[in-house]
Amino acid sequence: MIFTPETTDELTPTDTGVWLVTTKTAQQVWDLDDMWFTRLSSPVSTPMLGDDERQPIYKIGALPKIGRGSLVWFDDPVDPFGTAQWRISSFARRIMRLPDLSAVEQRFAAGESRAIDIQRGWYPLLADLDAKLAEADPTLQYSQIKEKGGGLRIYTYGGDDKTEALIREAERISWRTCERCGDAGTLHESPTWYQRTLCPPCAVVLNHTEVER
Ligand SMILES: [Zn+2]
Repeated sequence: MIFTPETTDELTPTDTGVWLVTTKTAQQVWDLDDMWFTRLSSPVSTPMLGDDERQPIYKIGALPKIGRGSLVWFDDPVDPFGTAQWRISSFARRIMRLPDLSAVEQRFAAGESRAIDIQRGWYPLLADLDAKLAEADPTLQYSQIKEKGGGLRIYTYGGDDKTEALIREAERISWRTCERCGDAGTLHESPTWYQRTLCPPCAVVLNHTEVER
């Protein structure tokens, strides 16, 4: 099976949906449905006020575009009536649509934490799998969804050979999909031997080196 997440070269004012924008060093989530902006922290970018928190977009100077920077204003999260905060980003290198994972959350078995313990690069893969599982066996429930040893791991209650095959296939695809940005990836390792599947630029950001196989 070939799985290709939806990407675009440019976001325009008429676009809708939620998008993960990856630049050389940083990442942002642009929610064009409800107009929220989130700057994601990273080990190589300077921490800024409101990182990793959704901020209501006040004004857009430049939407993300491959090879160009973006500019956005939002209310100061500490002083909403004060001067608006602005964020300028370096050139975008990947713009990928992020799916709504509420259907996945609702398929967790009662009593489970409902934690989707993976990075955003695998969200499209997970949403695609979830839709196929719901069709194959609507009674199937999740016990855990996480990253382990650089691969996607999904544990369920119920299911059959068909759902098992769908899960194994998605797990196989995760081994060649960057868990941070969704681009093509390979297995990498941190200096403390933590393994992640990453593309070359994300591996540089996270200080991982490729694992020889
Ligand atoms: Zn990546």
